[in-house]
Amino acid sequence: MSASDEDAVRVLRAGGLVILPTETVYGLAADAGNAAAVAAIFAAKGRPRFNPLIAHVADLLGAEAVAELNEAARALAEAFWPGPLTIVAPARAGDAVCDLARAGLDSIAVRVPGHPRARAVLSAFGGPVVAPSANRSGRPSPTTFADAVEETGFAAAGAIDGGACVVGVESTVVSVMDGRIALLRPGSVTRAEIEAQVGPLAAGGEGRRSPGRLTLHYAPDAPVRIEAEAAGAGEILLGFGPGAGDPRWSLSPAGDLREAAANLFRMLREADRERPAGIAVSPIPDEGLGEAINDRLRRAAGFTG
Ligand code: AMP
Ligand code: MG
Repeated sequence: MSASDEDAVRVLRAGGLVILPTETVYGLAADAGNAAAVAAIFAAKGRPRFNPLIAHVADLLGAEAVAELNEAARALAEAFWPGPLTIVAPARAGDAVCDLARAGLDSIAVRVPGHPRARAVLSAFGGPVVAPSANRSGRPSPTTFADAVEETGFAAAGAIDGGACVVGVESTVVSVMDGRIALLRPGSVTRAEIEAQVGPLAAGGEGRRSPGRLTLHYAPDAPVRIEAEAAGAGEILLGFGPGAGDPRWSLSPAGDLREAAANLFRMLREADRERPAGIAVSPIPDEGLGEAINDRLRRAAGFTG
Protein backbone atom coordinates (compact mmCIF):
# COMPACT_ATOMS: atom_id res chain seq x y z
CA MET A 1 0.00 0.00 0.00
CA SER A 2 1.21 3.50 -0.81
CA ALA A 3 2.28 5.66 2.13
CA SER A 4 1.29 9.33 2.47
CA ASP A 5 3.95 12.05 2.46
CA GLU A 6 3.37 12.48 6.22
CA ASP A 7 3.87 8.74 6.85
CA ALA A 8 7.11 8.87 4.88
CA VAL A 9 8.44 11.83 6.87
CA ARG A 10 7.55 10.09 10.13
CA VAL A 11 9.45 6.96 9.06
CA LEU A 12 12.50 8.99 7.99
CA ARG A 13 12.54 10.87 11.31
CA ALA A 14 12.38 7.55 13.18
CA GLY A 15 15.42 6.25 11.27
CA GLY A 16 13.47 3.95 8.94
CA LEU A 17 13.77 3.48 5.17
CA VAL A 18 11.23 4.70 2.60
CA ILE A 19 10.76 3.79 -1.04
CA LEU A 20 10.63 7.21 -2.66
CA PRO A 21 9.68 7.99 -6.27
CA THR A 22 11.83 10.43 -8.21
CA GLU A 23 11.61 11.44 -11.86
CA THR A 24 14.72 9.35 -12.65
CA VAL A 25 14.22 6.02 -10.82
CA TYR A 26 12.72 4.87 -7.50
CA GLY A 27 15.02 5.46 -4.53
CA LEU A 28 15.46 3.77 -1.15
CA ALA A 29 15.57 6.78 1.17
CA ALA A 30 16.93 7.50 4.64
CA ASP A 31 17.85 10.47 6.84
CA ALA A 32 21.36 11.32 5.57
CA GLY A 33 22.47 12.27 9.08
CA ASN A 34 21.43 8.98 10.69
CA ALA A 35 24.37 6.58 10.33
CA ALA A 36 22.34 3.54 11.41
CA ALA A 37 19.65 4.28 8.82
CA VAL A 38 22.29 4.84 6.13
CA ALA A 39 23.97 1.56 7.09
CA ALA A 40 20.59 -0.16 6.65
CA ILE A 41 20.47 1.12 3.05
CA PHE A 42 23.91 -0.33 2.26
CA ALA A 43 22.82 -3.63 3.83
CA ALA A 44 19.45 -3.80 2.03
CA LYS A 45 21.04 -3.07 -1.34
CA GLY A 46 24.15 -5.14 -0.74
CA ARG A 47 25.97 -2.00 -1.85
CA PRO A 48 29.74 -1.82 -1.32
CA ARG A 49 30.53 0.75 1.35
CA PHE A 50 33.08 2.51 -0.86
CA ASN A 51 30.23 3.70 -3.10
CA PRO A 52 28.86 7.01 -1.74
CA LEU A 53 25.20 8.07 -1.84
CA ILE A 54 23.54 11.16 -3.28
CA ALA A 55 22.07 13.66 -0.78
CA HIS A 56 18.63 14.78 -1.96
CA VAL A 57 17.47 18.20 -0.79
CA ALA A 58 14.39 20.38 -1.30
CA ASP A 59 16.10 23.42 -2.83
CA LEU A 60 19.32 25.34 -3.49
CA LEU A 61 19.48 26.53 0.10
CA GLY A 62 19.36 22.93 1.28
CA ALA A 63 22.19 22.08 -1.11
CA GLU A 64 24.33 25.01 0.07
CA ALA A 65 23.93 23.72 3.62
CA VAL A 66 25.83 20.52 2.78
CA ALA A 67 28.03 21.45 -0.22
CA GLU A 68 30.30 24.32 -1.21
CA LEU A 69 28.87 25.33 -4.56
CA ASN A 70 31.16 27.42 -6.76
CA GLU A 71 30.01 29.63 -9.63
CA ALA A 72 29.79 26.75 -12.11
CA ALA A 73 27.85 24.60 -9.65
CA ARG A 74 25.39 27.39 -9.02
CA ALA A 75 24.92 27.95 -12.76
CA LEU A 76 24.13 24.25 -13.17
CA ALA A 77 21.78 24.28 -10.19
CA GLU A 78 20.00 27.33 -11.56
CA ALA A 79 19.60 25.75 -15.00
CA PHE A 80 18.63 22.18 -14.06
CA TRP A 81 17.14 22.04 -10.53
CA PRO A 82 14.70 20.73 -9.66
CA GLY A 83 15.67 17.95 -12.05
CA PRO A 84 17.82 14.96 -12.98
CA LEU A 85 21.26 16.52 -12.35
CA THR A 86 23.58 15.62 -9.45
CA ILE A 87 26.47 17.92 -8.55
CA VAL A 88 29.61 16.61 -6.80
CA ALA A 89 31.24 19.44 -4.82
CA PRO A 90 33.34 19.89 -1.67
CA ALA A 91 31.40 18.74 1.40
CA ARG A 92 30.67 21.24 4.16
CA ALA A 93 31.64 20.15 7.64
CA GLY A 94 28.64 19.16 9.75
CA ASP A 95 26.66 16.13 10.69
CA ALA A 96 23.63 16.57 8.39
CA VAL A 97 25.24 14.00 6.09
CA CYS A 98 27.08 11.22 7.92
CA ASP A 99 30.53 9.98 6.90
CA LEU A 100 29.20 6.63 5.73
CA ALA A 101 26.82 8.33 3.25
CA ARG A 102 29.84 10.09 1.72
CA ALA A 103 31.96 6.92 1.92
CA GLY A 104 34.41 9.04 3.90
CA LEU A 105 35.17 11.36 0.95
CA ASP A 106 35.79 15.11 1.24
CA SER A 107 33.20 15.64 -1.51
CA ILE A 108 29.44 15.24 -1.59
CA ALA A 109 26.93 14.48 -4.33
CA VAL A 110 23.78 16.60 -4.09
CA ARG A 111 20.56 16.90 -6.09
CA VAL A 112 17.16 18.58 -5.97
CA PRO A 113 14.78 16.07 -7.57
CA GLY A 114 11.80 17.20 -9.63
CA HIS A 115 9.20 14.58 -8.74
CA PRO A 116 6.37 16.32 -6.83
CA ARG A 117 6.12 13.58 -4.16
CA ALA A 118 9.90 13.58 -3.56
CA ARG A 119 9.83 17.36 -3.29
CA ALA A 120 6.95 17.32 -0.84
CA VAL A 121 8.68 14.77 1.39
CA LEU A 122 12.03 16.62 1.25
CA SER A 123 10.43 19.98 2.09
CA ALA A 124 8.50 18.54 5.02
CA PHE A 125 11.51 16.56 6.28
CA GLY A 126 13.65 19.68 6.11
CA GLY A 127 17.10 18.06 5.78
CA PRO A 128 19.14 15.96 3.36
CA VAL A 129 17.88 12.50 2.49
CA VAL A 130 20.07 9.90 0.81
CA ALA A 131 18.19 7.88 -1.80
CA PRO A 132 20.17 5.51 -4.01
CA SER A 133 18.19 3.50 -6.54
CA ALA A 134 15.89 1.04 -4.76
CA ASN A 135 17.37 -2.03 -6.47
CA ARG A 136 19.70 -4.55 -4.91
CA SER A 137 23.23 -3.62 -5.95
CA GLY A 138 24.18 -4.58 -9.50
CA ARG A 139 20.58 -5.03 -10.72
CA PRO A 140 18.58 -2.75 -13.02
CA SER A 141 17.10 0.28 -11.24
CA PRO A 142 13.34 0.13 -10.56
CA THR A 143 11.26 2.60 -12.53
CA THR A 144 7.83 1.44 -11.33
CA PHE A 145 6.38 1.17 -7.81
CA ALA A 146 5.91 -2.60 -8.17
CA ASP A 147 9.54 -3.14 -9.25
CA ALA A 148 10.83 -1.00 -6.36
CA VAL A 149 8.79 -2.93 -3.79
CA GLU A 150 9.93 -6.22 -5.31
CA GLU A 151 13.61 -5.17 -5.02
CA THR A 152 13.90 -3.64 -1.54
CA GLY A 153 10.37 -3.43 -0.13
CA PHE A 154 11.45 -5.95 2.54
CA ALA A 155 13.70 -3.28 4.07
CA ALA A 156 11.32 -0.30 3.86
CA ALA A 157 8.88 0.76 6.58
CA GLY A 158 7.02 2.90 4.06
CA ALA A 159 6.67 3.12 0.28
CA ILE A 160 5.23 5.93 -1.84
CA ASP A 161 3.60 5.08 -5.17
CA GLY A 162 4.51 7.97 -7.47
CA GLY A 163 3.66 6.24 -10.74
CA ALA A 164 6.11 5.30 -13.47
CA CYS A 165 9.34 7.33 -13.52
CA VAL A 166 9.22 9.67 -16.51
CA VAL A 167 12.99 9.87 -17.09
CA GLY A 168 13.85 6.22 -16.42
CA VAL A 169 17.65 6.48 -16.11
CA GLU A 170 19.60 7.76 -13.11
CA SER A 171 20.65 11.40 -12.82
CA THR A 172 23.51 12.94 -14.74
CA VAL A 173 26.46 13.33 -12.33
CA VAL A 174 28.77 16.34 -12.82
CA SER A 175 31.80 17.04 -10.63
CA VAL A 176 33.10 20.55 -9.96
CA MET A 177 35.99 19.26 -7.82
CA ASP A 178 39.67 20.14 -8.37
CA GLY A 179 38.92 23.25 -10.46
CA ARG A 180 37.50 21.25 -13.35
CA ILE A 181 34.02 20.38 -14.52
CA ALA A 182 33.71 16.71 -15.41
CA LEU A 183 30.89 14.39 -16.40
CA LEU A 184 31.05 11.41 -14.01
CA ARG A 185 27.88 9.70 -15.22
CA PRO A 186 25.79 10.54 -18.33
CA GLY A 187 22.05 11.01 -17.80
CA SER A 188 19.05 12.75 -19.27
CA VAL A 189 20.60 16.18 -18.80
CA THR A 190 22.94 15.82 -21.75
CA ARG A 191 26.59 16.75 -22.23
CA ALA A 192 25.53 19.45 -24.72
CA GLU A 193 23.02 20.95 -22.26
CA ILE A 194 25.68 21.13 -19.55
CA GLU A 195 28.29 22.63 -21.87
CA ALA A 196 25.76 25.27 -22.96
CA GLN A 197 25.77 26.47 -19.31
CA VAL A 198 29.39 26.08 -18.20
CA GLY A 199 31.52 25.60 -21.31
CA PRO A 200 33.50 22.53 -22.38
CA LEU A 201 33.65 19.60 -19.94
CA ALA A 202 37.03 18.20 -18.92
CA ALA A 203 38.14 15.33 -21.14
CA GLY A 204 38.25 11.88 -19.54
CA GLY A 205 36.08 12.88 -16.57
CA GLU A 206 34.16 9.58 -16.86
CA GLY A 207 34.73 7.37 -13.91
CA ARG A 208 37.36 9.56 -12.32
CA ARG A 209 36.68 10.05 -8.61
CA SER A 210 33.35 8.27 -8.92
CA PRO A 211 33.64 5.05 -6.95
CA GLY A 212 30.26 3.74 -8.10
CA ARG A 213 31.51 3.45 -11.65
CA LEU A 214 33.92 0.64 -10.81
CA THR A 215 31.37 -2.13 -10.44
CA LEU A 216 29.16 -4.23 -12.73
CA HIS A 217 25.78 -2.55 -12.83
CA TYR A 218 22.24 -2.52 -14.12
CA ALA A 219 22.40 -6.21 -15.10
CA PRO A 220 19.40 -8.53 -15.37
CA ASP A 221 19.96 -12.29 -14.89
CA ALA A 222 20.01 -13.03 -18.64
CA PRO A 223 23.18 -12.06 -20.51
CA VAL A 224 22.83 -8.77 -22.39
CA ARG A 225 24.20 -8.30 -25.92
CA ILE A 226 24.28 -4.77 -27.35
CA GLU A 227 24.43 -3.35 -30.91
CA ALA A 228 22.42 -6.40 -32.08
CA GLU A 229 20.93 -6.44 -35.58
CA ALA A 230 18.57 -9.35 -34.79
CA ALA A 231 17.62 -11.79 -32.02
CA GLY A 232 19.73 -14.97 -31.82
CA ALA A 233 18.32 -18.37 -30.79
CA GLY A 234 16.25 -18.03 -27.60
CA GLU A 235 17.00 -14.32 -27.27
CA ILE A 236 14.54 -11.47 -26.84
CA LEU A 237 15.45 -8.44 -28.95
CA LEU A 238 14.74 -5.05 -27.41
CA GLY A 239 14.32 -3.02 -30.59
CA PHE A 240 14.78 0.66 -31.28
CA GLY A 241 13.21 2.41 -34.27
CA PRO A 242 10.82 1.23 -36.96
CA GLY A 243 11.06 -2.40 -38.07
CA ALA A 244 13.50 -3.49 -35.35
CA GLY A 245 12.06 -6.78 -34.07
CA ASP A 246 8.73 -7.45 -32.32
CA PRO A 247 6.93 -4.17 -31.49
CA ARG A 248 5.93 -5.71 -28.08
CA TRP A 249 9.61 -5.54 -27.16
CA SER A 250 10.50 -2.20 -28.73
CA LEU A 251 12.15 0.43 -26.50
CA SER A 252 10.72 3.00 -28.90
CA PRO A 253 9.08 2.02 -32.20
CA ALA A 254 9.51 5.60 -33.44
CA GLY A 255 13.18 5.75 -32.46
CA ASP A 256 12.66 8.36 -29.72
CA LEU A 257 15.48 8.48 -27.15
CA ARG A 258 13.31 9.88 -24.32
CA GLU A 259 10.79 7.08 -24.76
CA ALA A 260 13.59 4.50 -24.93
CA ALA A 261 15.14 5.78 -21.68
CA ALA A 262 11.78 5.71 -19.91
CA ASN A 263 11.22 2.10 -21.04
CA LEU A 264 14.78 0.78 -20.66
CA PHE A 265 14.96 -0.70 -17.14
CA ARG A 266 11.28 -1.77 -17.05
CA MET A 267 11.70 -3.68 -20.31
CA LEU A 268 15.01 -5.24 -19.26
CA ARG A 269 13.18 -6.55 -16.19
CA GLU A 270 10.15 -7.73 -18.18
CA ALA A 271 12.36 -9.50 -20.71
CA ASP A 272 14.32 -11.12 -17.87
CA ARG A 273 11.09 -12.57 -16.41
CA GLU A 274 10.60 -14.57 -19.63
CA ARG A 275 13.86 -16.42 -18.79
CA PRO A 276 15.32 -15.94 -22.30
CA ALA A 277 18.70 -17.35 -23.38
CA GLY A 278 19.77 -13.74 -23.65
CA ILE A 279 18.59 -10.18 -24.14
CA ALA A 280 19.80 -8.52 -27.35
CA VAL A 281 19.41 -4.76 -27.83
CA SER A 282 19.30 -2.84 -31.13
CA PRO A 283 21.95 -0.18 -31.77
CA ILE A 284 21.04 3.15 -30.14
CA PRO A 285 22.54 6.39 -31.47
CA ASP A 286 25.21 7.68 -29.08
CA GLU A 287 24.03 11.28 -29.14
CA GLY A 288 22.09 13.28 -26.54
CA LEU A 289 20.24 11.00 -24.15
CA GLY A 290 21.59 8.04 -26.16
CA GLU A 291 24.90 8.47 -24.33
CA ALA A 292 23.20 7.62 -21.01
CA ILE A 293 21.23 4.71 -22.50
CA ASN A 294 24.36 3.22 -24.07
CA ASP A 295 26.30 3.73 -20.82
CA ARG A 296 23.71 1.69 -18.87
CA LEU A 297 23.53 -0.95 -21.60
CA ARG A 298 27.31 -1.36 -21.79
CA ARG A 299 27.41 -1.90 -18.04
CA ALA A 300 24.45 -4.33 -18.18
CA ALA A 301 26.43 -6.21 -20.85
CA GLY A 302 29.39 -6.49 -18.49
CA PHE A 303 31.69 -3.69 -19.63
CA THR A 304 33.09 -1.57 -16.81
CA GLY A 305 35.33 1.49 -16.70
P1 AMP B 1 23.17 5.94 -7.19
O1 AMP B 1 22.81 6.50 -5.88
O2 AMP B 1 23.18 4.45 -7.23
O3 AMP B 1 22.41 6.57 -8.31
O4 AMP B 1 24.69 6.32 -7.44
C1 AMP B 1 25.22 7.57 -7.13
C2 AMP B 1 26.39 7.83 -8.03
O5 AMP B 1 27.02 9.05 -7.61
C3 AMP B 1 27.43 6.73 -7.95
O6 AMP B 1 28.01 6.52 -9.22
C4 AMP B 1 28.42 7.31 -6.95
O7 AMP B 1 29.72 6.76 -7.06
C5 AMP B 1 28.37 8.78 -7.33
N1 AMP B 1 28.80 9.64 -6.22
C6 AMP B 1 28.16 9.85 -5.05
N2 AMP B 1 28.88 10.64 -4.24
C7 AMP B 1 30.02 10.94 -4.91
C8 AMP B 1 31.17 11.71 -4.61
N3 AMP B 1 31.30 12.33 -3.46
N4 AMP B 1 32.14 11.78 -5.56
C9 AMP B 1 32.01 11.16 -6.74
N5 AMP B 1 30.94 10.40 -7.08
C10 AMP B 1 29.96 10.30 -6.18
MG1 MG C 1 21.97 2.73 -8.48
